[in-house]
Amino acid sequence: MKNLGYYNGKVGLIEEISVPMTDRAFYFGDGVYDAVMCRNNIPYLLCEHINRLYDNCHLLGINPPKGKEELSHIIKELCPLVDGEEKFVYFHISRGSGIRNHAFVDGPGNLCITIKEQRVDPVYEKMDLCTTEDHRYGYCNIKTLNLLPSVLAAQHFKNQRCGETVFIRDGYITECSHSNVSILKGKELITAPADRHILPGVTRAHLINHARKMGIVVREEKYTLDDLYDADEIIVTSSSKMARGAKKLNGKPVGGRDKHLLEALQAAIYDDYLESTTKKQ
Ligand code: PLP
Repeated sequence: MKNLGYYNGKVGLIEEISVPMTDRAFYFGDGVYDAVMCRNNIPYLLCEHINRLYDNCHLLGINPPKGKEELSHIIKELCPLVDGEEKFVYFHISRGSGIRNHAFVDGPGNLCITIKEQRVDPVYEKMDLCTTEDHRYGYCNIKTLNLLPSVLAAQHFKNQRCGETVFIRDGYITECSHSNVSILKGKELITAPADRHILPGVTRAHLINHARKMGIVVREEKYTLDDLYDADEIIVTSSSKMARGAKKLNGKPVGGRDKHLLEALQAAIYDDYLESTTKKQ
């Protein structure tokens, strides 16, 4: 198949699967989602992403329709049905169904999965970034379906012919429209603290671990736009970007002052992806 949609057990092309109007994702964005890259039909870091999804369900009182093991099994069964070597697997659980009414319905939630062919970003190619105010609400730590500010920020970077928009809240850098952002400065890795203003990215966590293993000091601290301009390197992380450097910020040259360390961290992340998704003989 060229792509795949799954909705509560129904499987077909994404363009052909329909979702009932009663689904609360439709009216309220009342649900949580996650996504992984998949290579050779091996979904990468699936367990960590499923754990985050279920933690998020728990935080919002959403009742998942399947257990974690069952969801993992469904995703692994569906991946080989889609053509291609590398795929992007998206999955969400909405709170459930009912006639429109803000207060909760009793579960179970609805499970939606989409799979499409997609390559990871060219990891070693540097990106151009732009900035905007972070107008998101206070649940950025939960990966909810309410993505309007991120949608606007994504259109902003597209209009600016950039690769990502960096959010600034009260003078401090939080993250990007759909990635985390960290900096290298004086051989230290600085990244915004995992509070309610950022999504605690799985790739960010791996970046931190790799950095610590390499003996790099990691500071989970607030930093500013000036720090970003001043960074030795900027690192943008997400499941599909892995870890990419940046060469321009709002049209001004940035980074390029610690190529060696940047590439060592990028290699640690990208090589783990390649190794973990290589079929064992
Ligand atoms: N921050 C936001 C707002 C995101 O939407 C994402 C991914 O979709 C990330 C960070 C990166 O998270 P991960 O590394 O788990 O893909």
